[in-house]
Formats: sequence, structure tokens, C-alpha cells
Amino acid sequence: MKPTLLETLTCSSNDCHTLETYQGKGVRWCVGCGDTMILETIQRYCHDEQLAPEKTVFVSGIGCAARFPHYMGTYGFHGLHGRALPVASGIKMHRPDLEVFVNTGDGDCCSIGAGHWIHALRQNPDITVFLHDNRIYGLTKKQASPTSPLGLTSNTTPRGVPLEPLNPALTTLGVANVSFVAQVVDWMPDLLYQTIKMAHQHKGLSFVSILQRCPTFLPTEFDPWLRNADRLLFLTHDKGIQPTPELAATLRQQTVHDPSDLERARALSADSENIPVGILYHNPLIPSYEETLRPKVSHSPALVKEGLEIQFDRFAV
Ligand code: SF4
Repeated sequence: MKPTLLETLTCSSNDCHTLETYQGKGVRWCVGCGDTMILETIQRYCHDEQLAPEKTVFVSGIGCAARFPHYMGTYGFHGLHGRALPVASGIKMHRPDLEVFVNTGDGDCCSIGAGHWIHALRQNPDITVFLHDNRIYGLTKKQASPTSPLGLTSNTTPRGVPLEPLNPALTTLGVANVSFVAQVVDWMPDLLYQTIKMAHQHKGLSFVSILQRCPTFLPTEFDPWLRNADRLLFLTHDKGIQPTPELAATLRQQTVHDPSDLERARALSADSENIPVGILYHNPLIPSYEETLRPKVSHSPALVKEGLEIQFDRFAV
């Protein structure tokens, strides 16, 4: 497809990628699914940043959100249930020159992948993680997930969910070494876009919890916040997200929140009634996993072989 006039004017050479470059196969999510809004916003961001498709990887596990890599015109890895984070960490360790993103759902991340979730946060690889939290297992047709609301009847909880839901943002803020946490909703693309931008610019694991509508299995779950934006608390700061006139008109409940204040981030994220949106926490000083563990010198194959021979000789009989 030919570049648009705007693309022609803003691209200095013929390596300019059109928006279509970032669009993969035809989307098969349900009509009205919040995943579509997330996808379109990420595609728009990749296009604006002109991320090289051949140097960009989207990694997922299993679930509705895990279809994401198929719908991007970049590289992708649709992996095993709950295993997106170790795969993404491995890719980044081996190829630090790649842009690595993860799309995971509340079941994939907070249930079967919970161990990987906690340790990836602690290890802090330089990857951007999007949690698509629709509070239900959609792909397997309505089973309760760890973030499902108390009392929800589902195929696995016919008498209602008996436990309080897990709060992903609050949980991440309790992990040692966490470096970037944000929370946003799928139905506010401008806020989502700004959050994605900050998350991607962060060097370390940026965790973006996105409340995502599932109109097929939980059609009214987010209505209190969708119908009344005053129940969303917009976190603003000159080190976080600054309100544009459009955002300020929509999100009237605002508070100035310094993203370096971990204690306040925890207190804010604990409120499940007046949900905070924006940057909860950002600490750019925490070293990434690559900086911490990647060898400072690269070893040649000959040097590796020599080292192995020495170790093998220790056990020779
Ligand atoms: Fe989206 Fe729900 Fe349909 Fe899955 S089941 S594609 S989450 S609307």
C-alpha cells in the first residue's frame, strides 16, 4: 500500500512503514471486544514510533488476548499457557536489540503464569507487558479467573466465586524490584496511548494493567466506570501523564501523584471502587535483568569450549 501524504511528509526515506505494515491477519475477536481497542492503539503507537517490524516481537501465552501476535505485522510467538514472560525474557536476553512486548490475560498471567509473573517483575527484563484483564476466561467460555468478582456465577463457580478477587496492580507493587506499573482502561484510547508510550520508553519491565471489556461473557462488568468516568481517578504528574484538554474534560476526578512514591501507589491501587488510571509507579534507577546478569564480556565459542573441557576434566575417571 502506498504511504499516505502525512507519512510521505514525515518519513525521510523509503524505509517508512505504513500503519498497514503493523496489521496482521484478520481479527477474530468478538464484536465490541476491548482487545480490539488495545490492538489498534498499539498498532498506532508502533507506526508513530516507526518500530522496525523485523526487530519487534509480540509474545503471548494462551487465551483471547494471546491471539495478539497473529494480528501484528511484526514477529510474534504464540506460546504455552502462562509462559509468555519467560519466553519474552529469553528473547530479550539473547537479542537485546529487539523490542519485546507481551500480551497476557488475567488467567494466563495471574493464575497458571503467576510464578513467572512474580519472578519476571523481580528480574526486571527490558520488556513491555500488557495485562488484558477482562476478569474472566473468555476463550474457554466463561470460567472464573483470579480477578473475577466475588459472587460471579460461571461455569466453574455455579454457586458464585467464593474469594475476593486478586488486584493485579496492587500485587505487582508488592514485588521487590518492580520498576514500572500503570493502570488504564481499554475504552480510553488517548490515555492508553500515552501510557503505552511511557511504558515502552522505560528501561526495565513495564507492567500495564488494562481493564478490558468482554461483551460476550461479562457484558456489564465495567459499566460503573464506563458509564460514569468520575469513578476513575486520573493520576497526573509532570513525571507521569499530563492531562490533555480532551482527557481533562473526560476524566474530571484527578490527583497529582508522583510516580516515585511507592507507598502512595500501593494505597491508590488498593481502591477498587474509584479505580486509579495513569502511571502508578516508575523507578528508572532499577537495573534491568540484562544489565544485572548479562556477562560484561562476550565469550567466543573457543573460550566456552575451553571452559567446558576444564569442567568435564574435573569429573574424568
Ligand atoms: Fe473478547 Fe470476550 Fe470475545 Fe474473548 S470472549 S474475544 S475476551 S469478547
